[in-house]
Amino acid sequence: MSRVLPAVQRNFYFLARRFVAGEDVASAIAAVRRLNALGISATLDFLGEDVLERDAAARQRDVYLEMLDAIASAGVNSNVSVKLTAMGLLVSEDFALENLSTIVERAARNSDPFVRIDMEGSPVLPATLRVFRRAFAHHKNVGPVLQAYLKRTASDVDDAIDSGVRVRLCKGAYNEPPEIAYRRMSEIRANYLTLARRLLERGHYPGIATHDHRLIAALKQFARDRGIGRDRFEFQMLYGCRPRVQRELVAQGYRLRVYVPFGTHWAGYFYRRVLERRENLFFALSSIFSS
Ligand SMILES: Cc1cc2nc3c(=O)[nH]c(=O)nc-3n(C[C@H](O)[C@H](O)[C@H](O)COP(=O)(O)OP(=O)(O)OC[C@H]3O[C@@H](n4cnc5c(N)ncnc54)[C@H](O)[C@@H]3O)c2cc1C
Repeated sequence: MSRVLPAVQRNFYFLARRFVAGEDVASAIAAVRRLNALGISATLDFLGEDVLERDAAARQRDVYLEMLDAIASAGVNSNVSVKLTAMGLLVSEDFALENLSTIVERAARNSDPFVRIDMEGSPVLPATLRVFRRAFAHHKNVGPVLQAYLKRTASDVDDAIDSGVRVRLCKGAYNEPPEIAYRRMSEIRANYLTLARRLLERGHYPGIATHDHRLIAALKQFARDRGIGRDRFEFQMLYGCRPRVQRELVAQGYRLRVYVPFGTHWAGYFYRRVLERRENLFFALSSIFSS
């Protein structure tokens, strides 16, 4: 059995490969270079979540420090995205804050000093925002992700606008209960549109993270109508998702950042991509057969 499991992992890795840049820092930097050559900036994510031991969280943090140095020495255009459960949030908030602060301080030396805190499932959301707020009190180069499927997010967006916080807005990738989350895609899309418009008008360089062509078209139109310059926000997409649309946005003069995950702990990330869009499995298969 112990021999079979790694073999299964390996086989699935070939599927995940379309959405994951590689297993080490060097392959992640190579992927960022390819994106930069297309006029696309990046945010690097070292895959891993739900770390329960201090040593493991410290190792995750150290890879972030290595990534930040590699970004600087390669001279590529990228910042980083981090999950607080990988930084030991489930061990203690103080410990996660310590690790996050080390990363944020190191990132401050880079030409793009920003550190994005990914948002995970709702059980860790309050703690994630608390740790973010404590870090933000000392460092302005850090900002959270907010999820449009959550009913509370309208008020979190207003708070972020009032306190000068730079937000990435996404729909949300976890399975949340109806008491706290919109479940119908039409409702999620409507809330996304409302909140993204608010961020475009009054926010602080928001990241509009979606592959949804209807939302992208509506938000481009909104920005045009309100005279909101293309330098005041950026679109964001995931590595391997809609590459043609990515190139079109850049050709139209929009800023685009691609989220580039890498590392060996790709399973949770890959399953979320497949669950939210079954076609992603077919894309993954087709990239194997066409390579
Ligand atoms: C940069 C970035 C960072 C993210 N960070 C987080 C995070 O921190 N926390 C979190 O919970 N979630 C995060 N997400 C995931 C996000 O919450 C959604 O789960 C994910 O983006 C899917 O929603 P969507 O709006 O992109 O499009 P979907 O709702 O998947 O798709 C909407 C429509 O867009 C079209 N479409 C979408 N993808 C494709 C495709 N590949 N090919 C063709 N058509 C397509 C289809 O018409 C589809 O019906 C992030 C997403 C991005 C892009």
